[in-house]
Amino acid sequence: VNVDVKLGVNKFNVDEAHPHIVIKGQPDSAVLELLTRACPAGLYKKQEDGSVRFDYAGCLECGTCRILGLDSALESWEYPRGTFGIEYRYG
Ligand code: SF4
Repeated sequence: VNVDVKLGVNKFNVDEAHPHIVIKGQPDSAVLELLTRACPAGLYKKQEDGSVRFDYAGCLECGTCRILGLDSALESWEYPRGTFGIEYRYG
């Protein structure tokens, strides 16, 4: 079973009104580029014009982008509120 299939069993409850990760208005582009390769869920996506798009839905809450990008590329990184976020399922 590959990783995509394993990740597919997880359930997400997306907090539409409150992004738990926010990118800076003027992020360090080299760090953002790094995040396109480091995020295990592939949520930082390089666009054709070279910019990076981020979608917080699907976040595994692994903290990788927090360690690599907080201050330089990210404005804030929090765990999702209350019942929001990922619910891990195994098996
Ligand atoms: Fe990706 Fe992990 Fe950051 Fe979530 S916490 S956006 S899964 S690197």
